[in-house]
Amino acid sequence: MPVSSVVTRFAPSPTGTLHIGSARTALFNWLFARRHGGQFLLRVEDTDKKRSTESSTQAIYRGMEWLGLDFDGAPVSQAANANRHAEVAYAMIVAGHAYKCFATQDEIATFRDAAHAEKRSTLFRSPWRDVTETDHPDVPYVVRLKAPRDGQTVIKDQVQGDVTIRNDQLDDMVLLRSDGSPVYMLAVVVDDHDMGVTHVIRGDDHLNNAARQIQIYLAMGWDLPVYAHIPLIHGPDGKKMSKRHGATGVEEYQAIGYSAAGMRNYLTRLGWSHGDDEFFTDVQAQSWFNLEYIGKSPSRFDFKKLANISGQHIAHTENATLLHELEGYLAIIGEPALSDVQKATFLTGAYCVKVRAKTMGELFEKSSFMFDDRPLNLEKEAKLSLGLVSIGILNELTPQLQNVIWEREALETLVGHIAQAHETKMGNLAGPLRAALSGRMASPSVFDMMLVLGRNETIARLNDIS
Ligand code: GLU
Repeated sequence: MPVSSVVTRFAPSPTGTLHIGSARTALFNWLFARRHGGQFLLRVEDTDKKRSTESSTQAIYRGMEWLGLDFDGAPVSQAANANRHAEVAYAMIVAGHAYKCFATQDEIATFRDAAHAEKRSTLFRSPWRDVTETDHPDVPYVVRLKAPRDGQTVIKDQVQGDVTIRNDQLDDMVLLRSDGSPVYMLAVVVDDHDMGVTHVIRGDDHLNNAARQIQIYLAMGWDLPVYAHIPLIHGPDGKKMSKRHGATGVEEYQAIGYSAAGMRNYLTRLGWSHGDDEFFTDVQAQSWFNLEYIGKSPSRFDFKKLANISGQHIAHTENATLLHELEGYLAIIGEPALSDVQKATFLTGAYCVKVRAKTMGELFEKSSFMFDDRPLNLEKEAKLSLGLVSIGILNELTPQLQNVIWEREALETLVGHIAQAHETKMGNLAGPLRAALSGRMASPSVFDMMLVLGRNETIARLNDIS
């Protein structure tokens, strides 16, 4: 197969938030397509009218955009293809691979009760499977798959290996309901075929579906896609990831402030590996990702590791990109947007705050000295660190800042001299200086803050506390 013919898809049902597990499925599909120069498509599986909502569809778009999972072409709505799904069901009838079933709900229930009592398989065996058209009554019917009853179906799965299902365990599943609407199992196959999907990478909760979906491909004489069913994500305790463990929706992770690049890196590594590499860039992930190294067992979510990876990515992210991401984060948590001046200051000062921030929240907090307006609102403890003695020393320092060369070395020398003159260590001056310049007890180094704030703002902040 020429490499560029790879087509993957993400097929979420818009019935809630974008779950972190679904996001990882999307990510794997995206990486695989990008790795092979192929296409990554989005199909919104909105056939369940009662449960599908527009707000959920929008949450899927937003989540994917935040994670940088750009899809090719326009998103496909599954519901919009209902006529085509029905057309395929009828084509299957013509080809002898499907049939009209007139059994009523009561008849099916009676069949099941009897099978149960006799300890036989309760898979419904319709009496209409081999009845010819001329003997059909003029009443509502469903269309059922004429599933093979002999032999076996093998799912050649890239993650799970060969999974064999005995065909006598397959039922003649319904393809079209009595109102003519297609069932999900039919819709998925028809859409995947029509969209030219070559690789179906999805959660292993769909593995059983694959055995039944394959029957539709075979009946229509369509090429099977390559399957890769990936294990689910578990919480730190090894149980299926749920609200109990913490955030489950992608937007919650964005609101916590993890970096998008860090999130991609962490989720890629969660269930897939490239040797011992823990930290990697998108370019690396896109050139390494393969199906062979997806693990077979469920991975455990580790919030601490995610925070570490997120921090490493924040430190490595270029300032302009970081600013953009910070702005997105502030919008999500409802903080006012940054002014042009604040943005410009951030671009200059990001170097001294991004090295120790694990999340956008921490980054914002460490950057507050750049964003806060004078006079600063000093934290209680910062206020306490400004004793009379230190204010006296700072008062002595302030006029001298007027003439010093505004460079790190000169500033360090000046502050060093003042400390010496007062027979104290430079470190003892750092606390009060920090309080005056940032209003806080924890901040970047005082010299970094001076350099970022510039002479006038530094002097003005020192004058504010004198
Ligand atoms: N819509 C299905 C889901 O959200 C996915 C179907 C598929 O990937 O084949 O679980």
